[in-house]
Amino acid sequence: MRKRYVIANWKMNKSHDEATKLINEILNKKAIHQLSEDKQVVIATPFIYLQEAVNQTLSTSYFSVAAQNCHQEIHGAYTGEISATQLNSIGVTHVIIGHSERRKYFLETDNVVLQKVQQALAYGLTPIICCGESLEQREDGSYQDFIQSQLENSVFQLDIKDFSKIIIAYEPIWAIGTGKTASAEQAQEVHALIRKSIHKRYDSSTANKTSILYGGSCNAKNAGILFSQKDVDGGLIGGASLVADEFAEIISTLINL
Ligand code: PGA
Repeated sequence: MRKRYVIANWKMNKSHDEATKLINEILNKKAIHQLSEDKQVVIATPFIYLQEAVNQTLSTSYFSVAAQNCHQEIHGAYTGEISATQLNSIGVTHVIIGHSERRKYFLETDNVVLQKVQQALAYGLTPIICCGESLEQREDGSYQDFIQSQLENSVFQLDIKDFSKIIIAYEPIWAIGTGKTASAEQAQEVHALIRKSIHKRYDSSTANKTSILYGGSCNAKNAGILFSQKDVDGGLIGGASLVADEFAEIISTLINL
């Protein structure tokens, strides 16, 4: 069974009161009661709201809380950073790693992404690893090789046991926050390619079981066509996750697949 997810990435948005309210509004939506082992929701809030988000969602099944990043070391003199073990200690269960904004603004390399993934796994967190090409790479046709190299230099270094615990998100950089969503065909092509690479690196059962999400201007209007692609197992949602009604519609799309 391959699990499907709708994952919210709030990025650096919302005040404390807005965050609490948004989670409560989402929890009150009907679709939340229809989540199951194979159709789950995860919300990645800013660090400072994680503890409260964990408390708010404790009694809701298949609704988890994620951090948007963690540091590659476990403790020590890293001013301003948060480690995987600290996240685990407050009940956070998932962590987004290697988002293109972290790669761009915080110079995270594939190797740093790998180190973070390893720490997350060592401390019981489920890493959601992002990959995806720039507009230039899409246009010059090098995007397939680029995505393949991102995987080879990061998560394909894991052994099969660890790899089977991760979630992958394909997020073309040109689609993130631009309103320029990848077409269903473009998404399916890359998702199939990623699954084929997993098969080649590990085996067919691992490839079949890995959840591969699409991210990049995914919203209530286009979630249906994207999520119904054979190799698209849900979405990583930025802007459209900041409004309860729209996010709930995306969750309903997942439920009704
Ligand atoms: P977007 O962001 O949905 O606003 O494009 C997605 C993401 O960056 O995870």
